[in-house]
Amino acid sequence: MSYMKSTIGKPVKYGPPDSAKKLGAAERGGGKVVDEVWAIDAQRDAAKHDHPHDPDCWGDYVFLSQLIAWPCGGHAIRLTYYHQRCGSDSWLYGGQTSIESIPSTIKTLLEKTLNKADWFTRQERATD
Ligand SMILES: [Zn+2]
Repeated sequence: MSYMKSTIGKPVKYGPPDSAKKLGAAERGGGKVVDEVWAIDAQRDAAKHDHPHDPDCWGDYVFLSQLIAWPCGGHAIRLTYYHQRCGSDSWLYGGQTSIESIPSTIKTLLEKTLNKADWFTRQERATD
C-alpha cells in the first residue's frame, strides 16, 4: 500500500546548522505536527511503479504544509514533502531542509508568492 498517511501526531526535531553545531548547539526537539494540508490529495495515492528501473523516473512526490506545536507553547508552520522512490511502495520524508518558521513569516512569504500573479499563468513544467 503506497497511500501517504496523515502526519498529524508525528514528532518534529531539528539538528542545528553546522556553524552552530561546531559551537556545541543542541538539537531542538519536542515539536509535534498538530494539523496538515496537502497540495494535491490524489498524489498521496501513488501506485508502486512496475516499469523497469529508469534513471529518468524520479518517483513520486507529495507536498504539504504542517502546523507544528512546540513545547514552549508556540507554533510554527513547515512547508515540506515526502518522496516515493521509483519501484518502492513506501514514502520517505524529504524535507530535511524544508522551510519552517513562525506563522507570520510563512504568511508573509505565501502572500507575497500569491501576489506574483504572473508566476501562476506561466507554462508549467511537464511533470510534477
Ligand atoms: Zn518509475
